[in-house]
Amino acid sequence: MKLKGIKSTFISSMAVMGLFSVLIYFQAQWQDKLTIVNYLVYPLLIITAIFATQFNRSRVALLCLFWGLFLLTENYPLVWSKWVSTNPQWLLLCGTSLLLLLALMKDRAIFSVHSITRILLVIGCALITFGWLKLSENVESFFPKTALWNQIIPYIPVAFPLTIIGALLFWRSLSVNNLTLTALLVTFAIWCLNQLDLITLPWSLVIVALSSLYLLAVSTDSYYLAYRDDLTSLPTRRALNQLALSLGRNYTVAMLDIDHFKKFNDTYGHDIGDQVLKLVAAKMTGVKGGGKVYRYGGEEFTVVFPRKTAEHSIPELEVLRESIATYGMVIRNPKRTDKNSRKAKKSNDYKTVHVTVSIGVAQREPKQSFDQALKNADLALYRAKKKGRNNVSK
Ligand code: GH3
Ligand code: MG
Ligand code: MG
Repeated sequence: MKLKGIKSTFISSMAVMGLFSVLIYFQAQWQDKLTIVNYLVYPLLIITAIFATQFNRSRVALLCLFWGLFLLTENYPLVWSKWVSTNPQWLLLCGTSLLLLLALMKDRAIFSVHSITRILLVIGCALITFGWLKLSENVESFFPKTALWNQIIPYIPVAFPLTIIGALLFWRSLSVNNLTLTALLVTFAIWCLNQLDLITLPWSLVIVALSSLYLLAVSTDSYYLAYRDDLTSLPTRRALNQLALSLGRNYTVAMLDIDHFKKFNDTYGHDIGDQVLKLVAAKMTGVKGGGKVYRYGGEEFTVVFPRKTAEHSIPELEVLRESIATYGMVIRNPKRTDKNSRKAKKSNDYKTVHVTVSIGVAQREPKQSFDQALKNADLALYRAKKKGRNNVSK
């Protein structure tokens, strides 16, 4: 299993830790402005929730709703405010379990057939935490009365579930490259630290800081959604058009097309075709010489070498072509997906296949637009196909 979210988790956590350190260190600077923050926090939560809903990030919108509810409970004498303030352990655990719930569910539309299930799950979290704390009031009676257990038992009601929830959130954030999950992890950390009085920042300030993080997470995730290809994780044609705007006068473009891919799909099925596209894309990202790789569409890719001539780029593309042609791609055997046959012959689960690619190269000529250069690369690709495929042509 690849840890796709390691970078985003690490960078965001560092950024938030830095921000909170600054807030703690410069207390004197914001103390007198706290009334403004207290007024600012509600509109900011509403804006963040609307923004998140616009971008189909309903989990962030729900998170804002929870924060709003929490702030109202803290600041106004609502029916349940007194009960909540006398049950801090429940509040702490219920908050973290809601964060875990958000980390596990999908970003479905706020109002959909799933809304009822969501409400029930939220109520479920509140009830389960309540039940757990009630049960752990008599925790001693469940365990043997040894010295070791006497040391462990005090940690069972709160510290134990917190550790498990924290570990699960950490794992989710590490394994998926999604800033919303990282935002949930960070929220968990800050929630615990402030509830346990390990840091003592006013909640309105904490929520203003976290809302900014949510806005950043939603916009970054949406950017990735628009500019990254889902299947291969390569930048898309839209990103290529964006690059075209900032290219200088000298560059080389290459169009790459997988050979006989239609036949490959017909033989092995579309799903295996998808797996191969992913593997070819992964190989392509290893191209040297400063080449930037894009999925142009279907089984066609584009490599751009900014500030490079065709003479410089062709050897790098040759290396790439060769590396794909000799690359034995291990794919899951489509005929062996049911459990019994998998057990019967594990070695037949996978098989090795090969594909080749043809590449057309064009260096930008004076006064040429990017589209014209790309078109020339496409014509060169056509020549490469005509020459018998599996080659690089100018
Ligand atoms: P050649 O390029 O060598 O001339 O032959 P080809 O068979 O690759 O040619 P063509 O461009 O006509 O076929 C492209 C095929 O690629 C058609 C389609 O089945 C397949 N394809 C395009 N996009 C995808 C995709 O996202 N997933 C899968 N599995 N197949 C795709
Ligand atoms: Mg094609
Ligand atoms: Mg093809």
